[in-house]
Amino acid sequence: MAKKAKTDGSADMFDVVIVGGGYVGLSLAVALKQGDAGLTCAVVDPKPMDQLHKDPRASAIAAAASRMLTQLGIWQQIEAESQPINEMIVTDSRLRDAVRPVFLTFDGQATEGEAFAHMMPNGVMLPALYKAAKKLGVSFFAPATADGFRTLPDHAEITLEDGSLLKSRLLVAADGVRSRLRDLAGIRTVNWDYGQSGIVTTVAHERPHEGRAEEHFLPAGPFAILPLPGNRSSLVWTEKTADADRLVRSDDFTFELELERRFGHHLGALKVEGPRRAYPLGLKLARDFVKPRFALIGDAAHGIHPIAGQGLNLGFKDVAALAEVLVDARRLGQDLGGLDVLERYQRWRRFDTFQMGVVTDVLNRLFSNDNDFLRAMRDFGLGLVDRMPGLKTQFIREAAGFAGPVPKLLSGEPI
Ligand SMILES: Cc1cc2nc3c(=O)[nH]c(=O)nc-3n(C[C@H](O)[C@H](O)[C@H](O)COP(=O)(O)OP(=O)(O)OC[C@H]3O[C@@H](n4cnc5c(N)ncnc54)[C@H](O)[C@@H]3O)c2cc1C
Repeated sequence: MAKKAKTDGSADMFDVVIVGGGYVGLSLAVALKQGDAGLTCAVVDPKPMDQLHKDPRASAIAAAASRMLTQLGIWQQIEAESQPINEMIVTDSRLRDAVRPVFLTFDGQATEGEAFAHMMPNGVMLPALYKAAKKLGVSFFAPATADGFRTLPDHAEITLEDGSLLKSRLLVAADGVRSRLRDLAGIRTVNWDYGQSGIVTTVAHERPHEGRAEEHFLPAGPFAILPLPGNRSSLVWTEKTADADRLVRSDDFTFELELERRFGHHLGALKVEGPRRAYPLGLKLARDFVKPRFALIGDAAHGIHPIAGQGLNLGFKDVAALAEVLVDARRLGQDLGGLDVLERYQRWRRFDTFQMGVVTDVLNRLFSNDNDFLRAMRDFGLGLVDRMPGLKTQFIREAAGFAGPVPKLLSGEPI
């Protein structure tokens, strides 16, 4: 049963209140409790937490994130429902081209026997995170919406929509790319809209995918086919926003026809399963990740283009870094909401995030067009990378989440 916050002016006091019970907020709650430093923790979210299994999407989870989830005791429960990505191919062509030459291939090993990423249904992973958090004693205020907050010298006060109050040493905003709390904190963002949307849906196909992920660069943007268990794949299909909206609203026949033109026939007959939804795509990077008694994590800190399937994986890195910083601070008797503690987290995460934001932005601009000169240059570049095993290994390390200073949880170590 979710708790009700008090409305009589008194308030529950926690070490950490996390606003946002998505992937990132829930995994931070589990990581903090598993840290075994006696931290008290609450999560606030407007969604009923018993409905999480209904999320029809799937996400690419990098090897480093699966190591963290193993350390948190989650991956062992859900791995059987995931699909390892064994191989990845990249093509670059026009929609009308009869053949799509493969310019780049990766075999999907991060280390011997360890896939660089797995596709995991959200409807499997979110409930597993919620159950683990509940079992560890995290308090849930859901369905409930955080409406505002203020920071005082020794705590933060969070107001929920019904007027009730929560107090905490530290308030963490994990409330997604349109973060209300980030705006209320006065944190500015670097921000632009790509004019593209990502259509997300699932397809069943006749023939097996053999764990192969495909990224087809088409003039409107990348069209990614990501393998799911069985003869099914998850699609992230980028189009100009007006076209994406039109496609999502179109009848099944038109949608499947347009889908086939992009997907091709190599996996046999296709059938769309479940809903289709378009997500507007933009770049939104917070200029600061922390303020006294306040920290941003996940998409609230950085919304990036899904071209490299790294948005959530950046969020998992935030979780691992912030949990390590906070558990260390508690063991040393430091103030969890103090700026000296929080700046350690910011130093750790801001540059990596900015770098990934720039990489995804450049890739999207370079590939989402039909310019002959750019096409020739990028295809030459892809062909070159394909012949350089050292560089490919480096790319796989990046995609697996092992580049840069890796927090303990992402290396599979306890904090
Ligand atoms: C088309 C597409 C495909 C993608 N594919 C991948 C992929 O394959 N791999 C990958 O790594 N990333 C991928 N991403 C990115 C990934 O989906 C996000 O990075 C991830 O969902 C961010 O998680 P989050 O928990 O930070 O935010 P969210 O998932 O947005 O969760 C935010 C939570 O905050 C809650 N909330 C909002 N406001 C309030 C409030 N006021 N009070 C309380 N709670 C609130 C919401 O209910 C929600 O539960 C993709 C993104 C898109 C658009």
